[in-house]
Amino acid sequence: MTGTLTIVGVGPGRPELMTPAASAAIADATDLVGYGPYLDRVTTRHPGQIRHASDNRVELDRARHALQLASHGRQVAVISGGDPGVFAMAAAVFEAVEAGPSEWRALEIRVEPGVTAMLAAAAEVGAPLGGDFCAISLSDNLKSWTTIRRRLEAAARADFVIALYNPLSKARPHQLGEAFALLRETIPPSSVVVMVRAAGSGEVRQIITTLGEVDPGTADMRTLVLIGSSATRLIAREGKAPWVYTLRRDVEGGR
Ligand code: SAH
Repeated sequence: MTGTLTIVGVGPGRPELMTPAASAAIADATDLVGYGPYLDRVTTRHPGQIRHASDNRVELDRARHALQLASHGRQVAVISGGDPGVFAMAAAVFEAVEAGPSEWRALEIRVEPGVTAMLAAAAEVGAPLGGDFCAISLSDNLKSWTTIRRRLEAAARADFVIALYNPLSKARPHQLGEAFALLRETIPPSSVVVMVRAAGSGEVRQIITTLGEVDPGTADMRTLVLIGSSATRLIAREGKAPWVYTLRRDVEGGR
């Protein structure tokens, strides 16, 4: 049987947020490959299915392993959190294919999309992505901090709503604070900042604040940070968190 490889997005957390197509791709697989915590999100066990859980964070190694299994005729599902194409495994698989043996190009490789953290986080607070937006990963494992700074500056000047993935980690605790400091050079301190931890899961927590007052110490690796544009607004509510939304039209005094 010809091997197949499907890179599957399992969504942000709650099983209902995984698409039926993603569930079907997982059910059809003979082998599941993924970083342990993401594999743990797949709670349905299929008889005979093998799990290759790795604690290895090097995505390219995991991608090559999955491709090798598929080239031996296995039906492989690579499990990724959120959407597999957003700062995740799908790009690593294609990078491995491009550099790898030519027979890998004959494999049937497919991407099954999922709800990415940015969308799950936005939905928790309202409609902050109603206007133009961009997404930037603050992780400098694969790219330089200089590149990240340049993109933050450009996004601030362009008046995008900015979604920050990978805001900080134990290995790089200062980056989110540095990013906020950099953004404050262009964006007014009254701008809305939203931090959503574990969006789309049963444990969601959110903070709605401003760029002037935000405490980067309240974020962690399960947090998605949104910085509003000049068209992002709050609707106050009695005894409840405000709604956050971004107008779809230009506003007076936009950056
Ligand atoms: N492929 C994933 C993103 C991988 S990068 C996706 O599409 O969502 C990992 C980063 O995503 C984390 O550091 C965090 O910033 C964000 N993230 C992932 N799941 C999240 C969740 N449920 N809530 C908030 N942020 C999340």
